[in-house]
Amino acid sequence: MCGIVGYIGNQKVSGILLNGLKRMEYRGYDSAGVSILTDGSIETIKKSGKVAQLEKLVDHTQFDSTIGIAHTRWATHGEPNDINAHPHHDSSNKISIVHNGIIENYAILKKNLIEKGYTFRSDTDSEVLAVLIGALYDRVKNMEEAVRYALNEVEGTYGLCVLSVYEPDKIIAARRGSPMVLGIGEGEYIVASDAAAIIQHTRQVIYLSDNEMAILTRDGYETKTIKNEKTTNTIHEIEFDLEQIEKAGFPHFMLKEIFEQPDTFRDSFRGRLLADKGNVKLGGLTQAEEQLRKAKRILITACGTSWHSALVGEYIIENLAQIPVEVEYASEFRYRNTPLYPDDIVIAISQSGETADTLAAVYETKQKGATAIGIVNVVGSSIARSTDAGIYIHAGPEIGVASTKAFTSQICVLALIGLYLGRMKNLSQSDGKRIGAAMLEIPNQIEQILNKSDEIKAMAKKFTKSRNFLYLGRGYNFPVALEGALKMKEISYIHAEGYPAAEMKHGPIALIDDNMPVVFIATKDEIYEKVISNIQEVRARRGKVIAIASEGDNDITNYADHVIYIPNTVPMLTPVLAVIPLQLMAYYMAVELGCNVDQPRNLAKSVTVE
Ligand code: GLU
Repeated sequence: MCGIVGYIGNQKVSGILLNGLKRMEYRGYDSAGVSILTDGSIETIKKSGKVAQLEKLVDHTQFDSTIGIAHTRWATHGEPNDINAHPHHDSSNKISIVHNGIIENYAILKKNLIEKGYTFRSDTDSEVLAVLIGALYDRVKNMEEAVRYALNEVEGTYGLCVLSVYEPDKIIAARRGSPMVLGIGEGEYIVASDAAAIIQHTRQVIYLSDNEMAILTRDGYETKTIKNEKTTNTIHEIEFDLEQIEKAGFPHFMLKEIFEQPDTFRDSFRGRLLADKGNVKLGGLTQAEEQLRKAKRILITACGTSWHSALVGEYIIENLAQIPVEVEYASEFRYRNTPLYPDDIVIAISQSGETADTLAAVYETKQKGATAIGIVNVVGSSIARSTDAGIYIHAGPEIGVASTKAFTSQICVLALIGLYLGRMKNLSQSDGKRIGAAMLEIPNQIEQILNKSDEIKAMAKKFTKSRNFLYLGRGYNFPVALEGALKMKEISYIHAEGYPAAEMKHGPIALIDDNMPVVFIATKDEIYEKVISNIQEVRARRGKVIAIASEGDNDITNYADHVIYIPNTVPMLTPVLAVIPLQLMAYYMAVELGCNVDQPRNLAKSVTVE
């Protein structure tokens, strides 16, 4: 959450900063701002609203400057107005900062600074960092030291860029708990929360570590810990291309990402699935192979959509490998005393690899001596770097705030882990082959569902007046019900709940009347008949039934008002197919209702705050 960017180099900075913000706008979009160092003073322009609002205020002709910082905000402390927008200045307007994260001890620091005569303008926690650095500069007359001392006083998390008139050819960046990537160009450096803001300038990047600072001048960069110990960093190459972070003719990133799923699913198993051997090769797990072999329990931790894929993973792994699996919200895991033993495996799932709660759960895992395995999308992200082993999902950049392709790729990787563990234990080769063969079919099967998008769009139109939805599924498709409901809530602002279908009679059935659409995932598997009974219970109360059903199931038309057919596959992979119509339905509903699909209200991608 929040996108920050800083640039120092040989090009005019204003356009570079705004462009960087646009590339990171999915991280936060309630307000935005820039600080540009020009003629010995800091020009700050900031505005509530989207980056486009800010852009209208920035007169590029006015600035020749080649150094500046910028921010697009997702407010944690203080409402999203012009004053609370970043950058924030110190009391004397000589220092400007942009911050991603939360300064947890801001109240006490602010009180102390006010007592010493320093002044504040905003309600944010971040401003305290700017004023504190200013106060410390007054004492030490050295920016690097002032920033370092400040960072040793603050509690909480930060991705930070600092600009000052005192040392006008320098940007200081730092991180703890929020991502910061430093792009190394030819005579220019660009530091940002996300490589998406950097790729236009350079592919060479270093990922800052927690409690690390980078001091950038036009002549070079230096990295140190906040305890002033020099650090060395490996230079990585950004793997994705510019086209991957553009809309490629689609009206929204979300739709583009839904349509990418045949490819992204394939990319997740490519080179890993040995279908003819009924096995998999997961290089990323080599370091944890022994621990995996003797694991008596697996705990999967995640948030949001990743938590739903974790639930699918639980059923897959338990079925294939007969190892007990528990799934826990990372935000709960990190704060309660979850029993964890050294031979436990904790799998942390996060698209961005930066989700604050999931990252904290990884730290907690390591603290307790268990093995942490990451399933993430973003290469070089914090979770990827802090786990003992891991598997990238290789879904390419996901920009739509509502996650789609990451979900299906996460399930792909979880199924691969299930096969890997199953074959280590007692899954037969023929069962492995059967699942492998089914997996190879999935990309084409997703394609077939995408070809029905017009049908799904037409159906969605019929429900635009509905203010509530119920989603029901059983077994592997119970998490799909949760995910379908989440998509609907996130982008259409329609209240939707997901339940295991059989739970309906324990409460939610009270909601059903002729205004209530109920989406059933009713694919042909061992519990199909039970789901049909649940459908009958809804029909008896005049609820409207939308069924996601298996191709060839003609009977279902007797029970459902609308049927969307999906191709047949092995039960454990049905979630991948069943979720596609639900993603499309939520998307088309949101578009019909005039909602901002890629930037839904109150949300942002990559939840780097608690
Ligand atoms: N805490 C800061 C604010 O509210 C930054 C928020 C964030 O990183 O999302 O302005």
